[in-house]
Amino acid sequence: MFLWRALSGALAVAECLCSHGMNVPLICPVCKNDAESISHVLFECSMASQVWRTARVPALNGRLRNSLEDYIEHLFGIIEAGPLCGNYRQAIPWIIWCIWKQRNEKVYAATDNIVDILIAQALEDVEEWRKLNEEDHQEMMRDCRVRDESMASKEDEAMQSKDDNEDQRKQLEPEQQGHEDLHISPGSITRSKQVKLQTTLQHLLNTIQGSLVCANPTTLVVIQAT
Ligand SMILES: [Zn+2]
Repeated sequence: MFLWRALSGALAVAECLCSHGMNVPLICPVCKNDAESISHVLFECSMASQVWRTARVPALNGRLRNSLEDYIEHLFGIIEAGPLCGNYRQAIPWIIWCIWKQRNEKVYAATDNIVDILIAQALEDVEEWRKLNEEDHQEMMRDCRVRDESMASKEDEAMQSKDDNEDQRKQLEPEQQGHEDLHISPGSITRSKQVKLQTTLQHLLNTIQGSLVCANPTTLVVIQAT
């Protein structure tokens, strides 16, 4: 969700604020070397570059100026099959988020955090998220099993009742057989898949909402306005 906001231009960086008619200095308040765009903050600024170097994420060797989409695509390539160990690869979205938080702390509270601590925090966050996901997944699987068993026993009862009715009808109307065999009723697997999808989506939304609580208020105001 944070990446979606970044890609939609919904972060309160100078370039976005100016494009919304606000009169703020365009220069990056962190490095004071370039205009503060979203791609500058997350990838090109001295602070961001230092974070990516320390996390050993290979830089994007493209044009002089890469678009935000180029950077994100580059990172997705690394997440899928990059030269980093699994933990660091999975932490990449959290590292982006940490860079944004650090930018806000620097701008609004003049606080500098040690880069190693930022990365350690990202690794910790991804570990916590994974544990929560595993717990939710196990709980969901337990729920699905209970639902499946309950559904299966109801369907058994329904099938038994249907068989009894059909036996009775076959005795009464032997010439009208066959059409019911073509009807396939929705099975318990379809229902459990629906439950699984709903639970996964709900968890994703909860995670995103949890992240938004930590966001800088200015960011949220801009997002709501767009
Ligand atoms: Zn900068």
